[in-house]
Amino acid sequence: MASALIEKYMRTDKFPHMWCPGCGHGIIMRSIVDAIDRLGWEKDNVCVVSGIGCSSRAPGYMDFNTLHTTHGRALAFATGIKLANPDLHVVVVSGDGDSSAIGGNHLIHAARRNIDITTIVFNNNIYGMTGGQYSPTTPTNYFGSTAPYGNIDRCFDIAELAGAAGATYTARSTIYHVPQMTNYIEKALRKKGFSLVEAISICPTSFGRRNKLGDAVDMIKWIRDSAVPVSKASTMSSDEMVGKFTIGELKNTEAPEYTQQYDRLIERLREEDDA
Ligand code: SF4
Repeated sequence: MASALIEKYMRTDKFPHMWCPGCGHGIIMRSIVDAIDRLGWEKDNVCVVSGIGCSSRAPGYMDFNTLHTTHGRALAFATGIKLANPDLHVVVVSGDGDSSAIGGNHLIHAARRNIDITTIVFNNNIYGMTGGQYSPTTPTNYFGSTAPYGNIDRCFDIAELAGAAGATYTARSTIYHVPQMTNYIEKALRKKGFSLVEAISICPTSFGRRNKLGDAVDMIKWIRDSAVPVSKASTMSSDEMVGKFTIGELKNTEAPEYTQQYDRLIERLREEDDA
């Protein structure tokens, strides 16, 4: 099945890809493609937009309408695309730094508007491409090139942040839990409104090496052992949750969608003009 998906949805002439051996990002890219395939969407009706970073190279390998934009600005471009062509399925691929630091305000306002865009955040807890700087999701006390003595910031919970800002679907899964991750991405893509799936990935080259987490297999086991289903987390104390994160569906609700509201506004103004 994997090879059929690659044949159908990948720009194989762009391979070999640029990701390091052991990088988790290819697993998430495959999940996105798998979810789109399950929905049976025409490739021409899908637009995948990215910013800058290792994750943001994914659209270059995916055979849809694709756009590689500037750092932190993928959602701004995607909003314009969606407003100009509301029938397109618009998907944003972003990293943890791209989406929650440089692009943090775009994320909050896209969620607030509930515009029908799905964002997949490839969260590997670091800026991998630009030198291993710590990001808003680097756990406290972990190391980055800009946190050589350990990071003292508390980290962002991106999925919770999006949900609190108004996203109507949020979920988190990992590259260890692939069937679950694909299922959440499919549900996010189906949602008429702003949806976000935080996909926990690994960066052995920058994050793993600096934090002595071992090789890619060790890091995937570390992710497996740190992930707690939301239902179980609700029975655990905050001390028991130190060093852990939740996985599962965090929010699934309904609210007016932005492009539909915009169309209604235009319709109302036209009617008022004609009256
Ligand atoms: S630097 Fe990290 S995130 Fe970037 S390709 Fe290498 S392993 Fe993946």
